Amino acid sequence: MSRSAHPAGPRHADVLAELHPLNPPTDPGAIDPSIWPASVNRVEGVLRIGGRSVTELTAEHGSPVFLLDEDDLRGRARSYAQAFANADVFYAGKAFLCTAVARWIADEGLGLDVCSGGELAVASAAGFPPERIAMHGNNKSSIELRRALEAGVGLIILDSFDEIDRLATLADSLGRQQDVLVRVTVGVEAHTHEFIATAHEDQKFGFSLRGGVAADAVRRVLASPALRLAGLHSHIGSQIFDLDGFQVAAARLVDFAVALRDEHGIEVERLDLGGGLGIAYVAGDDPHSPKEIGERLLDIVARASRAAGLNVPRIAVEPGRAIVGPSTMTVYEIGTVKSIELDGGARRLYVSVDGGMSDNIRTALYDADYTCTLANRTSTAEPVVARVVGKHCESGDIVVRDTWLPADTRPGDLLAIAATGAYCHSMASNYNHVPRPAVVAVQDGVATVIVRRETEDDLLRLDPGSGRQ
Ligand SMILES: *Cc1c(COP(=O)(O)O)cnc(C)c1O
Repeated sequence: MSRSAHPAGPRHADVLAELHPLNPPTDPGAIDPSIWPASVNRVEGVLRIGGRSVTELTAEHGSPVFLLDEDDLRGRARSYAQAFANADVFYAGKAFLCTAVARWIADEGLGLDVCSGGELAVASAAGFPPERIAMHGNNKSSIELRRALEAGVGLIILDSFDEIDRLATLADSLGRQQDVLVRVTVGVEAHTHEFIATAHEDQKFGFSLRGGVAADAVRRVLASPALRLAGLHSHIGSQIFDLDGFQVAAARLVDFAVALRDEHGIEVERLDLGGGLGIAYVAGDDPHSPKEIGERLLDIVARASRAAGLNVPRIAVEPGRAIVGPSTMTVYEIGTVKSIELDGGARRLYVSVDGGMSDNIRTALYDADYTCTLANRTSTAEPVVARVVGKHCESGDIVVRDTWLPADTRPGDLLAIAATGAYCHSMASNYNHVPRPAVVAVQDGVATVIVRRETEDDLLRLDPGSGRQ
């Protein structure tokens, strides 16, 4: 989507200097605490996280590596739990999930969203309390639904008529009544500083308010004794800074709740407003604090409900990125450096690292921006326009499109990329048969591998012709 909205042209050639989005940094080694994991600092030039230096950590755990600040992640989870004290917070596991993270999330009192059998398997392996799990997905298979029922998940979010029938039959055959939410598409699409509100949705998720589709879905649930309508769900976007989109979404959900009361005499118990809360990737990104978000969203729903004469439903939110994103940085080793002359004489330093789109697809997929810095030293060399690229056979394999790095950046240097906790490892691939990096959690000077680095042996084991099974 962003590919076509973002042609490469204007950022190239002789217009580069003028259109380059950033000014050279006054201190290229500076660590902005609003972007980097909370414990990151620099001692004698070397970046540290959780009380350990990145040079030691990469020597022990290899490169590239995801370094996760456990206290940072837990602190954000706790802040959301506190800000939504009389509401529910479900951590969206798709942002990044492993058993360690599931256990921390459980400890901090949050619920967990899963959206596949695989994510449910991780939650179960972690011993996550099943009644605090919500299961999402627009195409959950019968096997996934059965496993969710057998595991005793608290909520299943219904996304299609096929699924309502499938789940009703399965729950009935297991002699269970399952609490469900109906996912409503409210016609709001929100990203960063803007939202679009239309009457319709041209997308795969949920039941549209338009044409009475969502109302039909509720009728079908109410007619299924094995299902219990626990509430409504909506999810409006990602990386949202401006909360006004939630106001429109909540108003539409409340209107729908009024219609359901009038038709069926039922009160909607729960309103789940979904996730999508934004984080800072680069200087100038200005997310609200969990406390502000909590106050604002609770207020929006309370006002709209009271104005409509409804009991105020119990609110839920589902932050993924906002909990795990800022907790983690990726550290790569630089392998090659090329200074390329562009039309008009400007130059760009292409810095190749030992990973790329296989461990961070977001730049290629969404044109995401990132902040990076030399991690093993600081430099007094002049900052130059640079682009951080990966090692894959694809010219779109870019990690940081536009940045500044010291002119003496060289092979063997370590480069850290901030805010890579969400949708990087979880979207990682084995493109070019590059094994996926480890995720190492660091706390109080202790480093723990929470996802092991993949090996070539792991890859060969999937190939029956390799003789490695
Ligand atoms: C993706 C998703 C989330 C989490 O989104 P973030 O942007 O990571 O907060 C929450 N709920 C649903 C239904 C989602 O699809």
